[in-house]
Amino acid sequence: MSAAAIPVLTYHGYNVAGNDYADNDHVALARDLAWLGAHGWTVVPLGRAVRSLFDGADAALPEKAICLTFDDGTDLDWIDVEFGELGHQRGLYGILEDFQRRDPQRAAPHATAFVIACPHARARMATAALQHGHGMAEQWWALAERSELMSIGNHSWDHRHPLVVSAEAGGGNFFSVDDLAQAKRQVVESGHYIAARTGAWPELFAYPWGQASDFLRFEFFPTRVSEHGVRAAFGTEPGPMHAGSDRWYLPRYVCGEHWRDPAGLAAVLK
Ligand SMILES: [Zn+2]
Repeated sequence: MSAAAIPVLTYHGYNVAGNDYADNDHVALARDLAWLGAHGWTVVPLGRAVRSLFDGADAALPEKAICLTFDDGTDLDWIDVEFGELGHQRGLYGILEDFQRRDPQRAAPHATAFVIACPHARARMATAALQHGHGMAEQWWALAERSELMSIGNHSWDHRHPLVVSAEAGGGNFFSVDDLAQAKRQVVESGHYIAARTGAWPELFAYPWGQASDFLRFEFFPTRVSEHGVRAAFGTEPGPMHAGSDRWYLPRYVCGEHWRDPAGLAAVLK
């Protein structure tokens, strides 16, 4: 991978089905950080990488730069939890902290956590889909944003999640966000909600399920920058991002989908 190609890795804090790499994104992240460190990769903030690639700012990225993202904003991104029979689970943030503590000389690892704005949607999703009573609180967003290790990104107003939006109204399908009113709700209204809690406008957006309608990708994002204030939007097509990528549909590698073990990670980063 050349210096100007930057891979972006994605983890889901709620992926805890066992205590092995293959079925636990916390185990995978801890192992991957160690592997990346041992193989000369430097984790850089996603916002910094975007500014470097697309806005010509801060050109001095490390040669092997890589970015981390966490999707959906469950509490497991931030805090340690007890997970029934599977026991104590270190939060993803704590895993970043542990990694830095082990070698304070190295650049702090950083992740962008893409969160869902609507409190009603989060409550529904947490109640119906998360195990062991864990939630999707917003109280940690400001702490994360102020921390050295994490930023908060925008993962839409309600994810068009089928628990929240009926199928007739486009639930279960983010491609259905294909007109101006819906785009404003999913990107701008959510941005205001998140910014009111973190104190910072979320400049990075991740499409739910990686689904980008043509309207969002080719019309709304490119032509209404002053309205949405977003610098880049991310899907889940595998591949590294580079200066020639579409900044409104940037690729990411998803743990468990595009790689499942350390050898798989090594292969996608070749
Ligand atoms: Zn999502």
